[in-house]
Amino acid sequence: MKFKNINGKIVDVPSVRGWLQTLHSLRKIWFKLEKEGFTFMSTRNFNQDPVENFFAAIRNHQGRNINPTCNNFIASFKTLTINNFQTIRSPGSNCEEDGSDGVLTNLKTFMCTEQEHTELETTMDERTALSIINRLKKYVASKELLNLNLDTYIAGFVAKKLIQKIGNCDKCKKNLTSVSGTGVQNTFIRFRAYSPKSLLFPESSFSAYFSELYFHCPQLFDMFCTGNNLKLNMSYILKRITHFPHDCNKHNLQDIIIEFVTHFYILAKVRNIVKILKGLRQPPPGGYKDYLNNLAFTKSKMFLKK
Ligand SMILES: [Zn+2]
Repeated sequence: MKFKNINGKIVDVPSVRGWLQTLHSLRKIWFKLEKEGFTFMSTRNFNQDPVENFFAAIRNHQGRNINPTCNNFIASFKTLTINNFQTIRSPGSNCEEDGSDGVLTNLKTFMCTEQEHTELETTMDERTALSIINRLKKYVASKELLNLNLDTYIAGFVAKKLIQKIGNCDKCKKNLTSVSGTGVQNTFIRFRAYSPKSLLFPESSFSAYFSELYFHCPQLFDMFCTGNNLKLNMSYILKRITHFPHDCNKHNLQDIIIEFVTHFYILAKVRNIVKILKGLRQPPPGGYKDYLNNLAFTKSKMFLKK
């Protein structure tokens, strides 16, 4: 269908062309469906509004994320699946509510069906586990005062979080924290604590245990970060190669510590990479020694040039 405009020129209106195409297509679909025995066809159900609504929800995520990268998209998709779509439709859009549960149907079934609780277990076979353990660098406790203080400082923070997580358990508290903050390794904490209760002094064996776990995390992260079950695999190896000397009859303290430390490490690592990618971190003199950090830095230079 073509029109003559005021100047006498023949013009083709794209929306009309699209409309004609839609009518042709619908006719073809109907012929096909009729042959299959359908008695009616609701053309209303052929719209793309659910797709448009879904993309609107993705763009709405994190404030106004109008131009997401593939990774952004995946992350938003996952979060939205869990959090329910933020808005049912994009405000001011020409989409109607699609009334679908969409991807949430599976989640609903998953959450509402009673299932026998099974512990998450890694699928790593013994040979792989052993070869990984053999490749790990041996841990030697640092004697450098600066490193010692840094580790103790983070260990104090982790101990505080762990106690919050575990709840009121005197035995765990005793295993994780120390009342007196004497000793050279506690210098940082003494300086940083504004009030005596704001920072905790970690118990010395917990502090040493934390240092050991934290020493292994980077290597394990590099080994597992390209596959599935990163946290689970890291925790599994850490559980096999380390030993926390204290226990509590109510809590599996070692497992709780490992789970928390791995989580803490992965989060810190990823946050750091994101900062490098955004150009918010400057490399140390001589460049990044860490492969992933270095890769992120190279990428960020490409992005920031644009
Ligand atoms: Zn306990």
